[in-house]
Amino acid sequence: MTAFERLLEVQGHDTAVDRLHHQRARLPERAQLGAVQERASELAARLAATRARLDAVEQRQAALESDVARIDHRIREIEKRMYSGEVSATRDLLAMTAEVDALKSRRSSLEDDALAAMEEAEPLVEEIATLEAQNEALGSEAAGLRSTIAAAEAEIDAQAGVEAERRGQLAEHVPADLLDTYEKLRSTLGGVGAARLVGTSCSGCHLTLPASEVARLKREPPDALVLCDQCGRILVR
Ligand SMILES: [Zn+2]
Repeated sequence: MTAFERLLEVQGHDTAVDRLHHQRARLPERAQLGAVQERASELAARLAATRARLDAVEQRQAALESDVARIDHRIREIEKRMYSGEVSATRDLLAMTAEVDALKSRRSSLEDDALAAMEEAEPLVEEIATLEAQNEALGSEAAGLRSTIAAAEAEIDAQAGVEAERRGQLAEHVPADLLDTYEKLRSTLGGVGAARLVGTSCSGCHLTLPASEVARLKREPPDALVLCDQCGRILVR
């Protein structure tokens, strides 16, 4: 096998590694995972907003219930004094009865408000449960995609490793200056540094070489380095 033929094999393995890297970067599951993560972050924002609304309602309900408890306590205190026998003047007893009535009326209104707050909290609690369930489902979906991606990456990495190893073995038998020229061309010409001349066309750029150019190439000794005059790649005859 000539050095040029070997170089074409090196090119074959390099192309395979490039294709695998491309495939690795564009796994369809990666885009799916991105979409799932986007949905999860929208969901997290809705969840945080709903939790904040529920917190506010629950705080309001707790404040109302604490007011009710304070009024209860006040009513019990007054009633205790009224029935203790300490207060005997009718006028005082009437005033105390009036205060108890006013407190009871206030308590009833606060209890209504507390009940309304509780009713307001119920759909929020349900919404949070629904959002949490959706969040969990998205979490499992993301975990599934991550594990599919990891398995695909491991498979691709293993294939790329085999290609790279074969490439390394072949490259050892390609003269260093030829390999160097190839690498430079490959880095600027989309990964293809060497191409076969098939008939009169370059398989690197797929252009047909002029007949005079083909004739000139044929006159070159087999070990001469010739480049495609269209694309500049190493032509293997
Ligand atoms: Zn070419």
